[in-house]
Amino acid sequence: MVPIALRSRWSCLPLGVVLTAAVAAAADRPIVLEVDAREAPRRIFHTHMTMPVAAGPLTLVYPKWIPGEHGPTGPVADVAGLKITAAGQPIVWHRDPVEMYELQLDVPVGIDTLDVSFDYLSPADGGAFTSGASATAQLAVISWSQLLLFPKSARADDLLVTAVLRLPAGWKYGTAIRSVSDTADRIAFEPVSLTTLIDSPVLAGTHFRTIQLTTEPVEHRLCLAADSDAALEIKPQLTTSYKHLIAEANALFGAHHYRAYTFLLTLSDHTAHFGLEHHECSDDRTIERALIDDDGRRILAGLLPHEMAHSWNGKYRRPADLAIGSFNTPMQGQLLWVYEGLTQYLGQVLTARSGLLKPEDYRDSLALTASEMEEQGGRAWRPLVDTAVAAQLLYGARPDWSAWRRSVDFYEEGELLWLEADTVIRRETHGEKSLDTFCRDFFGGEDSPPQVVPYTFDDVMAALNAVVDYDWRTFWTTRLESTGTRAPLGGITASGWKLVYTKAMSPIQKAAEGEHKIIDERASIGITLHDDGTIPDVLPNSAADRSGIAPGMKLVAVNGRRWSRDILHEGIAHTRKQPLELLIENGEFFKTYRLDYNGGERYPHLERDNTLPDLLSQIITPRTWSLPSPKPTGSSNAGSR
Ligand SMILES: [Zn+2]
Repeated sequence: MVPIALRSRWSCLPLGVVLTAAVAAAADRPIVLEVDAREAPRRIFHTHMTMPVAAGPLTLVYPKWIPGEHGPTGPVADVAGLKITAAGQPIVWHRDPVEMYELQLDVPVGIDTLDVSFDYLSPADGGAFTSGASATAQLAVISWSQLLLFPKSARADDLLVTAVLRLPAGWKYGTAIRSVSDTADRIAFEPVSLTTLIDSPVLAGTHFRTIQLTTEPVEHRLCLAADSDAALEIKPQLTTSYKHLIAEANALFGAHHYRAYTFLLTLSDHTAHFGLEHHECSDDRTIERALIDDDGRRILAGLLPHEMAHSWNGKYRRPADLAIGSFNTPMQGQLLWVYEGLTQYLGQVLTARSGLLKPEDYRDSLALTASEMEEQGGRAWRPLVDTAVAAQLLYGARPDWSAWRRSVDFYEEGELLWLEADTVIRRETHGEKSLDTFCRDFFGGEDSPPQVVPYTFDDVMAALNAVVDYDWRTFWTTRLESTGTRAPLGGITASGWKLVYTKAMSPIQKAAEGEHKIIDERASIGITLHDDGTIPDVLPNSAADRSGIAPGMKLVAVNGRRWSRDILHEGIAHTRKQPLELLIENGEFFKTYRLDYNGGERYPHLERDNTLPDLLSQIITPRTWSLPSPKPTGSSNAGSR
């Protein structure tokens, strides 16, 4: 690549927490937003706005570009029953024929207030991110961006909004903004800027629990809402790990940029599963039993560390082309390998440093990432930077041929590249400095309320060079812009480990199989399968690909016998002695495919390279607490240098 609109100076964009002059001027007439979520179990949200306006033409905007989702994902198609009135009289509106998120109308002379109401129709299942399933019979995540319109001409930082929320009887809630009155089912919040409001979703439910993680120097809370009370039974050891996470994150960055921080954790099998970062909270959604099952805890482990790291990397420091200060200006994703790739690396490192993952689970997770990047064939034509530029397309791309198309690989490949950068800093400074030094310099500074400090590619290069003088520009442009077939595994090898394959699947891969309801045979014959035999993806140049199998086909039988998970595993295991024949259904037709493969079962792991120092173990060693003494691993140089 690399980008860029080169902007050499950082500017600092204070958010609504610090009232701008325009916000102060608007303070006597804020927008009043009343959201009635009492029908959340039916997944219908009623909203009413009282909006100060001036007479004349007016364009109202529905939020389109959602921060953190890196694309035009605002669910405008799910707005229904829109009614705009002034002094009790209906106002005619027209949708812009080109920009579907904009509504045009004329405010009559003598009118200074509009009443705007509509319903937001939230899906029962499916969908991506916040426009995906967000409410069940027992809980809901309320994303304010879905429930309002705003005047196009105003800056989001300058619009003051007083939000009022009604919840089903008996539901409790958590959010980063403060309430000023809180009666049985009606909560009125402090007036905040539109930016801050949209940055502060509400988690609510009938099975709800708040755990105070710290009170000093600032408050950190874990708010849980689940589809059952049983799912809220977090073990004390896990709570301790989340306290470690806060200490480790603050030790890594050296300062924080929030007044308080709240994890909003949804535990349900019936909402979309993802995490969305905010300055002072994160919207984290996972399976119902994530806190109480071993596999669930492995799936959950990296989620909160990743989203919390975003408070620094993504919210406080943000690529200039993603810091648009609006919800209707296109975002540009070319620096997502920093925003998401570095967060992926730091999030996993913090997961291990917090004790949320054991060191061996961390390594297995890294091995799985390395293997995924090694096996996907799309790097042959698509450089990594293009996955960032095209992120707004790739997040929603179908799973079929995703390895050939490439997906949002700036997460996984970004993790590998930032590990490599970490090892370069450690090598070049003889262990004096590390990527932690960069994090303190780039993301730390002084404690502050939320603010946005944008950066460019040049700013990142300058900050890396301030840590250690090195040709970082070539390092990054080479890795971001080149095509080829091999994954960048230099960080793993330089940190004293090797990617290997064995016939034993790691617990972390097993947990991922369960979460995604797939069978993962990518490293052997080159396919994934759903439980019903459907093949969502085939790796380019794998044995399955060469035999003619394609995504969308369905496995029926293995070596002449009706397939099951065990039959398939046995068939692959015996390929060293017996060829593998798969009977496949393709629409209404059946065909047997003979695979040119004799490698047996193959699952990725990391193996210690005793000729090099074990930097990886140094990287994941906690800074603020002590792990129990590890058992000897037989490595001669562990911990040296
Ligand atoms: Zn992220």
